[in-house]
Amino acid sequence: MTPIQTLIQKQRDFFATGATKQLAFRKAQLARLKTLLEDNTQAICDVLKADLNKPADQVMLAEITPLVHEIDYMLENLERLAAPKNVESPETLKLFGAGEYHSQIIAEPYGVTLNISPWNYPFQLSISPIIGAIAAGNTVVLKPSEFTVHSSALLNRLVAQYFAPEFFTVVEGDVAVNQALLAEKFDYIFFTGSVPVGRIVMAAASKHLTPVTLELGGKSPFIVDTSANLEQAADSLIFGKTFNSGQTCIAPDYLLIHEAVKAEFVAILNQKLTALFGDNPWQNYAKVVSERHYLRIKNFLKDGNIVAGGLFNDETHQMIMTVLDGVTWDSPVMQDEIFGSVLPMLTFSRFDDALAQITAQAKPLALYCFTEDKTNQEKVLAQVSFGGGAINSCFLHFFNHNLPFGGVGDSGMGSYHGDRSFYELSHEKAVVVRKIA
Ligand code: NAD
Repeated sequence: MTPIQTLIQKQRDFFATGATKQLAFRKAQLARLKTLLEDNTQAICDVLKADLNKPADQVMLAEITPLVHEIDYMLENLERLAAPKNVESPETLKLFGAGEYHSQIIAEPYGVTLNISPWNYPFQLSISPIIGAIAAGNTVVLKPSEFTVHSSALLNRLVAQYFAPEFFTVVEGDVAVNQALLAEKFDYIFFTGSVPVGRIVMAAASKHLTPVTLELGGKSPFIVDTSANLEQAADSLIFGKTFNSGQTCIAPDYLLIHEAVKAEFVAILNQKLTALFGDNPWQNYAKVVSERHYLRIKNFLKDGNIVAGGLFNDETHQMIMTVLDGVTWDSPVMQDEIFGSVLPMLTFSRFDDALAQITAQAKPLALYCFTEDKTNQEKVLAQVSFGGGAINSCFLHFFNHNLPFGGVGDSGMGSYHGDRSFYELSHEKAVVVRKIA
């Protein structure tokens, strides 16, 4: 057996003992995960500084605090979530035989799960799905991204220190290691990453008929119409496109703006960008993960004219949000997810045309629409299919655990956060108990 096969077998044997099905065990492991995060906050900030130059306040806001809150939520709600749910038994059942019928849905863990995570939020996106996996009673193999080496090494060290490997372990490595993992049979695969790799993961999972959650990406529009509060729209756009240097799956990918307010909006963006990043922008600003990605994003500049931003630092691979005018749907920058701070700008003259432009593309992971017009708000929600999003705001749907987070169509399948995380990583077993009089 290869080391990966041995590891999976150990987890399978441990799962078979039934230990993870005990609620006391799950709660203890969740509490331990919380301790891991709280006791190692500084170390996490340090590795994210080394890997991505992430400012500590961004680490707290997006990587550590939401995870701690999610664990608290799970601990408070686990008894309710894990309890068998009684459902009505219709009279139809009696046609098949006399007796008293009692019907239940019992949430049971899948077994040995694999979580493959990306590099942009190495802790948030590695740990968050695992909160659901542990709460539901599974064992976990985590494969973090090889692009954020310091984060990956710290995750490996901490998980080994806090957890038994037959229950929860980290496997580090490159694509070859991912392929070796994906060749094995898992009981569930949770993948967060790009659309092309999502296809590879699903193809590998299909060989074993392993169910998957695919949290993918895509081109998420940011719409601004004539009724929008332009100041607030500009603040939200800059926040969404500069946070983690635009390397966020739900970042606005492109701006779709009514031509009547375009010039005014660009002027506001320019003012705000200068005020925010005028002198020495680089110190407290995330960098692009690698030179290859930096050059890929910078290369998009030739697809249009820079009308706002435009500050690039070739030495540190940093870039401030840069707005491109003169772009069309045929431009290279509009073909794939940008995943960086370059923002192409497209226009429309009728709101319906804006929606038609979006629905002609793959279904986006996120959509943001700035409009005070109630009819337009209703139209965009009724006519456009997207994973999740916000009206007159950006990102906030991600941070509400009462909302399922996930994509649709090319942006992914399945969802998590809050109760959904528990159900996503559980099989709902349907049972009828007949009491024969
Ligand atoms: P990626 O798809 O390149 O890599 C994700 C993971 O897959 C990594 O662990 C990597 O090691 C592995 N991988 C890469 N190539 C592989 C291959 N050929 N076979 C098997 N495994 C392979 O994604 P990334 O560059 O790390 O992250 C950026 C992408 O992730 C963007 O598209 C972004 O939108 C998406 N993303 C989505 C979400 C979400 O919640 N929906 C969150 C963050 C990022």
